[in-house]
Formats: sequence, structure tokens, C-alpha cells
Amino acid sequence: MTIFQKILDRQIPARIVAEDEHCLAFHDVNPQAPVHVLVIPKVAVRSLAEATDAGMLGQVMLMAARVARELGIEDSGYRVVLNTNGNAGQTVFHLHAHVLGGRVLTWPPG
Ligand code: AMP
Repeated sequence: MTIFQKILDRQIPARIVAEDEHCLAFHDVNPQAPVHVLVIPKVAVRSLAEATDAGMLGQVMLMAARVARELGIEDSGYRVVLNTNGNAGQTVFHLHAHVLGGRVLTWPPG
């Protein structure tokens, strides 16, 4: 079981930002920007590479946009990132979108 499944099951705590029937959003424990929230689907899918449900992916994206709006970074700008497998640095194998904002984000990422 991944650590994100434990957060979904309320076995370990998280600073929850938003929740609906499809997704949970919570603050990243090691923030890389003033706003750094993770959005996860309630279904366990290892990564974007293994996702087959376009509706689920859409719900994750819509929740990311909602979080950005509610945390006040919509107008200043933000980035939504899905690290996928080794070279991208994925460490938790429950699909998740990082929502990053509150500062200027350089491009390309390192
Ligand atoms: P990734 O490297 O894309 O797999 O991202 C995993 C993210 O999960 C990292 O940014 C971690 O800081 C974050 N993380 C790991 N454990 C927790 C936790 N218990 N609560 C919140 N965020 C976590």
C-alpha cells in the first residue's frame, strides 16, 4: 500500500485542502513552492503511464484548477506536474498531480 493510499484511508494525517467524490487534495509535506499541493484520485493507479480512465484524469485536472483558484494562485500562475516513472523522479506510485505556485517557476525544470 502506498503512503497516499494511507492518507486516503485516513491512516496517516495530511493537511487536506479539498475533497470530492473522485479526488483528494493535500499540501505536500516537502513544499517546493509557497503553494505546493498534491491532487490524487481515489482510485489507485500507479502512474499516468498506467491510466486508462480519461474521466478520472479529467477530475484530477479539474481539482488541480480548483485548488489553484481557492489558494489564490490562478491569476499569478501555476504549474501542474505529473512525474511519471524514474527519470521524472516519481517516488510515490499512486498517480498524483503537483500544483505549484506562489513564485516564478523556471522553465525548463531541472
Ligand atoms: P513524486 O516525486 O512526484 O512521486 O512526488 C511525491 C511527493 O509526495 C513528494 O513531493 C513528497 O514530498 C510528497 N510526500 C511524500 N509523503 C508525503 C506525505 N505523507 N504527505 C504529503 N506529501 C508527501
